Amino acid sequence: MEYVNKNIWSEIDNELIMDFAEGYKSFMSGGMTERAIVTLLEAKSIDKGYVDITSVDKLELGQGFYLNHRQKSFFMGVVNEELKSGLKLIGSHIDAPRLDLKQQPIYEEEGMALFKTHYYGGIKKYQWVTMPLCLEGVVYRKDGSKLELSIGRGANDPVFTITDLLPHLAQEQMAKTGGKIIEGEKLNVLIGSIPLVEGEKDPSVKKAILGFLNKEYGLIEEDFLRAELEILPNIPPRDIGFDRSMIGAYGQDDRICAYSLMKSFFEGEFSSSNVLACFFDKEEIGSNGDTGAQSRVLEYLMELLIGKSGMKATSLEVFFNSKGLSADVSAVDDPSYEGVFDKYNRGRLGLGPIISKYSGSKGKYDANDASAEYLSYVMGVLDKGKVMYQFGELGKVDLGGGGTIASYLSQLGMEVVDMGTGLLSMHSPFEVASKADLYMTYLGYRAFLEN
Ligand code: MN
Ligand code: MN
Repeated sequence: MEYVNKNIWSEIDNELIMDFAEGYKSFMSGGMTERAIVTLLEAKSIDKGYVDITSVDKLELGQGFYLNHRQKSFFMGVVNEELKSGLKLIGSHIDAPRLDLKQQPIYEEEGMALFKTHYYGGIKKYQWVTMPLCLEGVVYRKDGSKLELSIGRGANDPVFTITDLLPHLAQEQMAKTGGKIIEGEKLNVLIGSIPLVEGEKDPSVKKAILGFLNKEYGLIEEDFLRAELEILPNIPPRDIGFDRSMIGAYGQDDRICAYSLMKSFFEGEFSSSNVLACFFDKEEIGSNGDTGAQSRVLEYLMELLIGKSGMKATSLEVFFNSKGLSADVSAVDDPSYEGVFDKYNRGRLGLGPIISKYSGSKGKYDANDASAEYLSYVMGVLDKGKVMYQFGELGKVDLGGGGTIASYLSQLGMEVVDMGTGLLSMHSPFEVASKADLYMTYLGYRAFLEN
C-alpha cells in the first residue's frame, strides 16, 4: 500500500488549530531573549507547583522539579518511577539568530552615533537592514548592580535600524555576491544624531548618547564590557494569509518547538514515567559554552535527581535507558525556490512535524542517525496518539545541511531522533510556520511523553 501524507486542515477541527496559535503568538510577543524565556518558564513551573531541584533536600515521586541553569537554559521534569529505567526527554533550544552588540559598541561618525554588532548564528546579513530593531539584554554597572534593558517594543519606544545604500549609488554593491552585499562590519545600528552642545567645546553625538544613558540608566561606557545586549527584529507575531493559516514571527527557530514542548509538558498526563523537558541555549552557535547542549549540565542534573530521589542508579544508566526527541525546526519546501529539496523526501507545509532520521551533510557527516528500531518505537507512540507527522530531509544530498542537538543528546547514551515544525524563511527576521503544523507538533510531543 502506498504511503501518503494527509493535509492536517482537512482532518482536524480547524478551530482547535486556530485557538492553539493564539497562545503561541502571545508567547512570541513576550520572550524575545533566552533569558526572558527562562524567566517565563520558571514562573510557569512555580505556578504548577514545581520545586527548584537545587534547593530541596528530597525529591518525592511525582513531584515536578526544575533547574534554572544560569538564566540561559532551563529544565523541568517529573520522576514517577525508578530512574534506572530511564526517562523520556525532549530537548529544544531557546536562542535564535540575532545581532549581538560588541563589547565596545558605541562610536560616532558623520554626525551619527552607532553600535557595532557581531552577528550570532547563521544569518543572511542582507536581511537585517532597513527595518525596525529593538535592543534587549542585560548590563552590569561597576557597583555590580544589574540592569535589564528592553527598548523598542513599547508603543512609544524609539526603535533602532541598520541603514542600506540607496539604489541610485548601489551599482558596485549590487554586483557583489549575496554574502557580501551587506558585510558583517556594516551591520551598524543607528542610535542617535543630536550632538552635545551645552558646556562642551567639541559637539559630540557619542558623548550626548553616553550622557543620556548615564542620566536614564546610570550607565557609563565601561559598563558595556559587562553586558550581553542583543539587537532583534522589532516585528510582532502576525497571522499570515487571507485564511490566517500561518504565523509570521521572529525567532520561531526554535521557540515554536519550545512552546509546543512547554504546552505538552504542562497539559500532558504521564503519571507513570519519568519525563524531562530541556530548553537549551547556544544551539545556533554550535551548542558550545556552559549553557549549551554540549556542556555537562544534563549529567549534573541527573546526579541531583539520583541523589535527591534517593534512588539507586548511575547517571550513565539513566541516559542509556532514556528515549529522546530533539525538538528543533526543519524546513518545508518553498515553491519559489524549487530544486533545493529532494521532492520525494522533503518536508511540506501543513503535513505535521517533520521527523529527520539524520541531519548532517555530505555523506551524513556529523549526523545522529537514528536506528530503525528507534524509529519503529517513535512512530508507534505517535500513531497511538493519532499524531499526523511526516518524514523529511533538509535539502538535497550535498546541497548543504545543518545540525541540531540530537547528536549531543545521543552522546550521553540515549536513543534520539529529530522531530520539529517545518519553517519557511528559516533564520530570517520573519520566519513563517503553519498553525496546523504548530498544533500537531504539540500533539506529537504530548504523545511521546504520554505513551
Ligand atoms: Mn534550531
Ligand atoms: Mn537554527
